[in-house]
Amino acid sequence: MSRRNGRTERPQRAKPAHRDGPARRGTSFRCLGCGLDVPMWAPGTAHRNHCPTCLCSRHVDRSVPGDRAASCGGRMDPISISVRGAGEWSIVHRCGACGAMGVNRAAGDDNPLALVRIAVRPLSHLGSVR
Ligand SMILES: [Zn+2]
Ligand SMILES: [Zn+2]
Repeated sequence: MSRRNGRTERPQRAKPAHRDGPARRGTSFRCLGCGLDVPMWAPGTAHRNHCPTCLCSRHVDRSVPGDRAASCGGRMDPISISVRGAGEWSIVHRCGACGAMGVNRAAGDDNPLALVRIAVRPLSHLGSVR
């Protein structure tokens, strides 16, 4: 009972890049700003989506942090800091590819100097405002 008709052979090495995709996806991402491999877990947040060093993010979430629903994938630069209530810092990102904005909570190990630099950026521009 052979049903061979000449096309039973399937190439097994079609997509090597995806071999460890599903298992490893979601554990880390490559920072588009400084190239750091950023682990997804971080103190103080369930879903880290920005680089702790340069605070750049990637446009992957659409509405809910962690939903990874956006297909844009553009680089999101930190443009502002917002501080809520008892010192909960959030970073405002804007996507350089599509212009979408997003607010992400700062993680416990974010570079404090980088956070402060963004926070005081409006002040440093005061002198050069026309
Ligand atoms: Zn970075
Ligand atoms: Zn985008």
